[in-house]
Amino acid sequence: MSRSPVVDQEACIGCETCTLVCPEVFRMQEEKHNGHNHGKSIVYNPTGAPEAKIEAAMDQCPAACIYWE
Ligand code: SF4
Repeated sequence: MSRSPVVDQEACIGCETCTLVCPEVFRMQEEKHNGHNHGKSIVYNPTGAPEAKIEAAMDQCPAACIYWE
């Protein structure tokens, strides 16, 4: 079985970079957390892109909060 990317919901700062780099895998959710309007990124399609493209998103995440599981 291949590995899947995961976004650390606590660490994500909602910058949207991963959703721009790899929109086949990541998207922003508009959930409110403690009054904050910031959306967090979620993995909605773990196998939607080649691992290299997912890793490009990981490399560019400013919070370094995307990891393999
Ligand atoms: S690049 Fe990182 S910090 Fe930015 S939205 Fe994606 S997971 Fe969150």
